[in-house]
Amino acid sequence: ARWTVEEGWTGAELVPFGPLQLSPAAAVLHYGQEIFEGMKAFRHADGSVWTFRPEQNARRMMRSARRLALPELPERDFLESVRALVAADEPWVPQPEGETSLYLRPFMFASEEFLGVRASHTVDYYVIASPAGAYFPRGVQPLVVWVTDTYARAGAGGTGAAKCGGNYASSLLAKNEAVSHGADEVMFLDSETHTAIDELSGMNVFAITRDDRILTPRLSGSILEGVTRESVLRIAQDRGLQPVETTLLMSEVAHQISAGEITEMFACGTAAVITPIGEFRSQDGTWTIGDGSSGQTTLALREELTGIQYGRVPDRHGWLTRLV
Ligand code: PMP
Repeated sequence: ARWTVEEGWTGAELVPFGPLQLSPAAAVLHYGQEIFEGMKAFRHADGSVWTFRPEQNARRMMRSARRLALPELPERDFLESVRALVAADEPWVPQPEGETSLYLRPFMFASEEFLGVRASHTVDYYVIASPAGAYFPRGVQPLVVWVTDTYARAGAGGTGAAKCGGNYASSLLAKNEAVSHGADEVMFLDSETHTAIDELSGMNVFAITRDDRILTPRLSGSILEGVTRESVLRIAQDRGLQPVETTLLMSEVAHQISAGEITEMFACGTAAVITPIGEFRSQDGTWTIGDGSSGQTTLALREELTGIQYGRVPDRHGWLTRLV
């Protein structure tokens, strides 16, 4: 669909996957005025196809749109765009084996042919889909995470809480740095003091303590409000863990790992699901969480979340929406 200042949204249609026609002067290519979402469609054992909390993605996309001076797409149009694509691509939704799903990527960008720094008067919206397996090639093997004290993902007043391409562009060099230190992922600290945990390049971060608390950074404005993050907090509470959303100082976390007070850590997101963190590395040293293997509670939370998504566990919270 296309939005213009004069006409609003028009022209929603299903078209075969293929290259876009775009002017070399399209504003998005120069100024990065672009946002996106990430969601999944899951096939259940009876053949039906479902998605997980899509209204959360719709609302987050609206918040991202506002921050990037893009037009709002009504929630019902967002949901209908996803439903229509999955209905058309239904044969591509994989059988419910392992971690397979159909990954869905709604995105919106400034398509006006215009060089100059102002909000685009023409905006395009698309949804594409791709069958997906496990996010990490090693599956649920615990991650080695590099803590960068050089680069920040987002600053106060910036776009950290929006899901815009620029945030990911700014994370790539730090990710390369992480890989050069033998790590799977990079963890960002807050941009002001470089002391508090923000998030990984595409996942929120959690810690579980010996006394059954589950800790995660509070929504400071510089981290993404993950749909998985909020769902994990609810599932954890159902299991008797006490959720604590707070400022998590890396030095405190390192101390609590060494003292055995933090017994498990994990990262979570739509693509990565729930993935244990086995070790942190930084310029200052290395910290192994527990014995470095996948934590029991982490694996139980993961089993519960994927169980709901694939229809193996009752959908107690009413999180699933049927698509086909
Ligand atoms: N943080 C960042 C930076 C992300 O890109 C993602 C993935 N969308 C997340 C957290 C997790 O969000 P969600 O659970 O909604 O996928």
